[in-house]
Amino acid sequence: MTARSIAASGAAAIAALVVSLPLGAQQRSDAGASRPASVQPSKFTRAPMIQAPPSGEVEILPIRGHVYALFGAGANLVVSVGSDGVLLVDAGRAEMSDKVLAAVQRLQREWVVRNEPPSIGFGAETRSSVADRHITAPPKPIRYVINTSADSDHVGGNEKLRNAGHTFTGGNVTGNIADATEGAAILAHENVLSRLSHGVEGQPPVPADALPTDAYFVDFYKLSHYFNGEGIQLFHMPKAHTDGDSIVHFRGTDVIALGDLMSTGSYPVIDVAKGGTINGVLDGLNRVLDMSIAEFRLEGGTLMVPGHGRLVDSADVAYYRDMLTIVRDRVEDLIKKGRTLEQVKAANPSGDYDTEYGSTTGPWTTANFIEAVYKTLGGVRLKPDTTGGKSPAPARKR
Ligand SMILES: [Zn+2]
Repeated sequence: MTARSIAASGAAAIAALVVSLPLGAQQRSDAGASRPASVQPSKFTRAPMIQAPPSGEVEILPIRGHVYALFGAGANLVVSVGSDGVLLVDAGRAEMSDKVLAAVQRLQREWVVRNEPPSIGFGAETRSSVADRHITAPPKPIRYVINTSADSDHVGGNEKLRNAGHTFTGGNVTGNIADATEGAAILAHENVLSRLSHGVEGQPPVPADALPTDAYFVDFYKLSHYFNGEGIQLFHMPKAHTDGDSIVHFRGTDVIALGDLMSTGSYPVIDVAKGGTINGVLDGLNRVLDMSIAEFRLEGGTLMVPGHGRLVDSADVAYYRDMLTIVRDRVEDLIKKGRTLEQVKAANPSGDYDTEYGSTTGPWTTANFIEAVYKTLGGVRLKPDTTGGKSPAPARKR
């Protein structure tokens, strides 16, 4: 599938998605006390989504200017290619690194061809045209890899991509000059660094070359200079998918890499064991909406690449935020009424969205999602409340 047809089918998917919205959801939420105890599944079927690349293949989607998305390597990757080199947001799964590198090299070659210096046009008698016409500068190297979280489908390619790249001294580093030839810099929040250096649960230790070289521990981090003609900023999203998530804003092309704050085909993965919470995800999505500017009636404008799924704009993010807010409020209401986790699951608080985002199989089921929402809203009750809601609900933590 070509990039153009991906873009076209993406637009079709957006149009189809709009038709499939469960329009009654907002009204039901607003109805408050009159809401039925159990939410019925919507009659809508899942909208046709953008066609995923064939398994094992990496697809390139031009987003805007010199910024591209790569699909199919595990998590979605965002790539900036230009005169300063290559910056990647996320590295994909380890076994896909060769395909990711091939896609990056293709973008590098295309950039070189597009930016080949024009012939000087002198006659052959006065000047050798051979040197001018057949020698082009080699492609600029990979210089930065950013990890939006420590998950293996986001950091698996770190080692190979780093070692295929290069860090220049003088311009962008203040560290030991001996490190200068040791590949690209890897940037991440410090919780990603500590998680990777202590080993991720159930996975082999991460080799030294796969560890972030630069970690930040405050609210944001920015590249000290323009890169490929624009400023690039990382923002920490505390307690969202995990405790170490970053989003990455390309300020000139106005593209935001969202990491696992959002996934267009599933509920967000809230990794409670690694510090993820539903309210952190909602805070993050609201932050993204504050940063994004629409082109026309909430459509177009700032373009965003979620960690998984298709390209989105602010309308998609707002819809996803609304959906999560509604489900969060329903679970919170049930917690206040003293319901146990099993009772909350039985009430099916996400029922009208399950056709679009739910799953009964795989690593992240609807039941996993509801459990994460329940726990991170402070739901701790193990036995049903027999006082008819008169006993105080357990203390709630945010
Ligand atoms: Zn992911």
